[in-house]
Amino acid sequence: MSKTTETIFSKIIRREIPADIVYEDNLALAFKDIHPQAPIHIIVIPKKPIPTLADAESQDHALLGHLLLTAKRVAKEAGLEKGYRVVINTGDDGGQTVHHLHVHILGGRQLNWPPG
Ligand code: 5GP
Repeated sequence: MSKTTETIFSKIIRREIPADIVYEDNLALAFKDIHPQAPIHIIVIPKKPIPTLADAESQDHALLGHLLLTAKRVAKEAGLEKGYRVVINTGDDGGQTVHHLHVHILGGRQLNWPPG
């Protein structure tokens, strides 16, 4: 499953391409999705370029927890008090297109279940 770790998200981290960044700390970055699937659609990424969730290792456990807590923080700051969805597309069947682990935060409308 492991693929190159240099992606468009690496360029966003390095500010080589623009992004609407809503949160940053030493471990994580959050920015608005360029093709939003809901009124609020934010992506949270680790600065460490783990290609997919399937590539995460036990040494990443604190980082993975930090990503979820960052998602919670970003969702609250975005005003999603009625709820939201957190998605990690993983691998080809999971619909992952950017091979840098990322957490989608979707909200601002009633979301359907199951997803397609
Ligand atoms: P995936 O399909 O891999 O789970 O999600 C990748 C997401 O990254 C997609 O929702 C896509 O719209 C978003 N995306 C891809 N390229 C860019 C970009 O250059 N800037 C931003 N802000 N989002 C991007």
